[in-house]
Amino acid sequence: MSIAIDQELFRHLFAAVNEQGYSPDGWTRAPWTDELRAVEQLVIDVAVAGGMVCEHDPAGNLWITDPNVPANGLVVAGSHLDTVPKGGAFDGALGVVGGLVAVLALRAAGVPNLQRLAVISFADEEGSRFNTPCFGSRTMVGTFGDEVADAQDKDGISIRDVGPKRPADAAGLQRRIAAYFEIHVEQGLALAPADVSLGVATRLSARGRWEWEVVGEANHAGTTPMVGRRDALVCAAEFVLAVQRTAVAHDGAVATVGRMTPWPGGTNVIPGRCMGTLDVRALDNATRDAVVQALVDGFPDVAIECKSTDDAAIFDPALIADLHAAANALGISAMDLPSYAGHDAGTLALAGVPSVMLFTRSPNGISHNPAEHSDESVCLEAICVLAAAVARQLD
Ligand SMILES: [Zn+2]
Repeated sequence: MSIAIDQELFRHLFAAVNEQGYSPDGWTRAPWTDELRAVEQLVIDVAVAGGMVCEHDPAGNLWITDPNVPANGLVVAGSHLDTVPKGGAFDGALGVVGGLVAVLALRAAGVPNLQRLAVISFADEEGSRFNTPCFGSRTMVGTFGDEVADAQDKDGISIRDVGPKRPADAAGLQRRIAAYFEIHVEQGLALAPADVSLGVATRLSARGRWEWEVVGEANHAGTTPMVGRRDALVCAAEFVLAVQRTAVAHDGAVATVGRMTPWPGGTNVIPGRCMGTLDVRALDNATRDAVVQALVDGFPDVAIECKSTDDAAIFDPALIADLHAAANALGISAMDLPSYAGHDAGTLALAGVPSVMLFTRSPNGISHNPAEHSDESVCLEAICVLAAAVARQLD
């Protein structure tokens, strides 16, 4: 059976989606905002025109299904429509738009059991606003309970104020999914140097987010001698350098302090406290934990609190094989690729849902940045491969 991908539909919908939340310094679509609702509506309009129906679950995930969708056995393509602040055009949006275009192509081709085809746009994947990464999928699999809706953004607005009131009512919905596929822009620089179009994800790294605080003593910046100061920001600076050194010393580990706030923040006041974040990832759980433990041991004066962790997620060998077989049959180059980013596909895989991801070659390896890019031809190759692999799951 030949599956005709509607290239014009992809081009137009992807462009329309990326008119939302755009500014010259990047795309910003935070969860439960006007920009996010607008972008969902664009996707909904196309899906409905294709004969599908759309519904938000109690966690705010958007389900796009056949009107006669069965209770279980869904073969799902998806991703997310939210972005980090000043992010790129591809992260998330490519997976939702590409997944929908693939599913519509399969429906148009009249594949058997097409009622099992679905697309999901997961809520709040980036977690940038409320520090709740993979909110939608984690709530679905029961990692997050209703208390997660109390999480507040920097303005003191909670998820409950603007989004789901009882997200845990979505718990267990992952059991409807028989297989989950996610197209995503490559985050890193492996495919271009290898002259390969697509990366088939084999696993997601172990990762975690921590918050830390150093307490010193605020005092007058002029009248306090240098000797004997308890400057919290100076201690924090040493901690940040140690984070870098520690990650380098552990094979396959990466670690980042992305945010740091000295208090009280006066030009003429020695910082009395300093708060910051810590993000650590590694190919396996033990290496991730060893990095954090080394920092805990090395800095007894820094209080480090774990905010969230995800174990390394192993993708489904059969789906990996299907993607390779589909790429091979279509004459499209693909190679295995582990990923260090967090994704809803990882949450689902950890919950036992057979899942896999397909990365599209990034020419510059840049993501979470407006320079993030994949060529349209590569995006279309991914959609073709995805559609062929998804079709195999419907038999
Ligand atoms: Zn993403």
